[in-house]
Amino acid sequence: MLSSRAIVLSRENFGEADRYLQLFTRDWGLISALAKSARKSKRRYIGGMDLFCHNEIVLRGDPREKPYLVELTVLNAFTGIRDDIDRAMTAGKVAQWVRKLANTATPMPGVYSLLGQTLALLEKESDPERLLLLQLLFQLKFLQQLGLKPRIDACARCSETRQSPGGVFDLDAGGLLCQNCLGERTVAHTMHLDATECQMLDQGDRFKLTLWDGFQFPVRPTRNLLRLTAQFASFHTQTQLPV
Ligand SMILES: [Zn+2]
Repeated sequence: MLSSRAIVLSRENFGEADRYLQLFTRDWGLISALAKSARKSKRRYIGGMDLFCHNEIVLRGDPREKPYLVELTVLNAFTGIRDDIDRAMTAGKVAQWVRKLANTATPMPGVYSLLGQTLALLEKESDPERLLLLQLLFQLKFLQQLGLKPRIDACARCSETRQSPGGVFDLDAGGLLCQNCLGERTVAHTMHLDATECQMLDQGDRFKLTLWDGFQFPVRPTRNLLRLTAQFASFHTQTQLPV
């Protein structure tokens, strides 16, 4: 028997009474586990099968090979997320990013704490615009942890230091281009970013979520960058990610 802490990212009915849970665990990263009779016996998994629940779980079998979920204890049910449509939608997108981009059964303790911290802040946030901002910070931090941070400090093609505070972002190259490299490019996959947006893309991953309460960032650039990071990550991972 093995135990770990885990967050429920998705669930799917299986057979007559069973259910597969996709979990993000502290010890093994993203895994799937089979909860036998989960739809008949509520007793064993009481309250811990809902989306985003943070549980202590006990497994039987190899975590990499769809183990059985033996039992669970709820640490935090995050009911405040599921009670509100905006929070639930944002948390759903965060969960989808993790499900689609995290490697299976690979320990990623940084992602585990980022996910837990993000859900805890989501649960307390009631301003829909700030939910978007939180989603953006999550995405920037997550991309950084995956080694997919967009290149902003210098030209993404020739590494020349850039002079202007804003610039043209090139999806292919994975960052901003200098004037020289821009001259040779078609405009199909490019997007102009102002100084505020560039700064956020460059430094958002280093923002401390413990300072979230006092953090401000304008709405329009938040929406632009949410779109950009989704396109950027989809393009470089061959995955379709929600905006
Ligand atoms: Zn260049």
